[in-house]
Amino acid sequence: MELRIGQGYDVHALADGLPMWLGGIRIPSQTGFVAHSDGDVAIHALCDALLGARALGDIGHLFPDTDERWKGVDSKELLAAVLDLPELRGWYVVNTDITIALQAPKLAPHIDAMREQLAEVMGISPARVSIKATTTEHLGFVGRREGCEVWAVVLIARD
Ligand code: MG
Repeated sequence: MELRIGQGYDVHALADGLPMWLGGIRIPSQTGFVAHSDGDVAIHALCDALLGARALGDIGHLFPDTDERWKGVDSKELLAAVLDLPELRGWYVVNTDITIALQAPKLAPHIDAMREQLAEVMGISPARVSIKATTTEHLGFVGRREGCEVWAVVLIARD
């Protein structure tokens, strides 16, 4: 069995009145992410981790924000497109571990729905998808509710 590991990181700014898509689901919130796509910063970090595992660059390179095709796109479609790349076909996700730093709203009630949603797109059990959320105790840009940061690690394998 061949194994590869990848990590990804992404940040999006928050603004009033925008929808908040995170981990593949809509989170009830007065603020949402400023982005060319739906702004799902968790999926973007996961995509970068998958790309990193195969040394394929980053999603900004793959889906440029100057391309109208990706305007407002559901990030689950980006994740599916990444998994469908020739370099990732034949590989499967062993597990992923994602940490989301967001001051508000509280994400605890939504974690399991996110895990199920991302697991479905990746075709794996939710037991292999870890999502953790933390505030930053009001410190930094996350703490000031200016944005959200996400780190993702993924292990992929092929037989
Ligand atoms: Mg992004």
